[in-house]
Amino acid sequence: MLHGSCACGRVRYEIDGELVGPMSHCHCWQCRKHSGASFGTTCAVRSDDFRITAGEAELRYWESSPGIRRHFAGCCGTPVFKRLDAIPQVLGLRLGTLDCDPGRRVEDQVFAGSRVPWVELDPRLPADEEGAPFPERG
Ligand SMILES: [Zn+2]
Ligand SMILES: [Zn+2]
Repeated sequence: MLHGSCACGRVRYEIDGELVGPMSHCHCWQCRKHSGASFGTTCAVRSDDFRITAGEAELRYWESSPGIRRHFAGCCGTPVFKRLDAIPQVLGLRLGTLDCDPGRRVEDQVFAGSRVPWVELDPRLPADEEGAPFPERG
């Protein structure tokens, strides 16, 4: 059983199962903006395994594009997970919200070409060099 929470502790969740798929550092600019950090670290969990145990009324979401809902804690702004209408059986968890060790380690660095200039890649991990560092905003 894994568990996690938002920054202020009102929103809490449990995962009755394992993380599925790779644990990744994602350097795309969207992950940076959605997390406020220099990169995002995420992993999929099965929707059936994921349960909000406290503060469900605090959860908000915004739709970053049609059918992609990014859920965050309205109480303190912590990004918690995203849900894709096209793939309802899994959700993408922001691993920084975990309050325990999932027993696995980050396996890859995606959109490494989008990384910000102040971040070094981890040479022990594969990196896909896709992307550009900053969004095109006029
Ligand atoms: Zn909170
Ligand atoms: Zn990303």
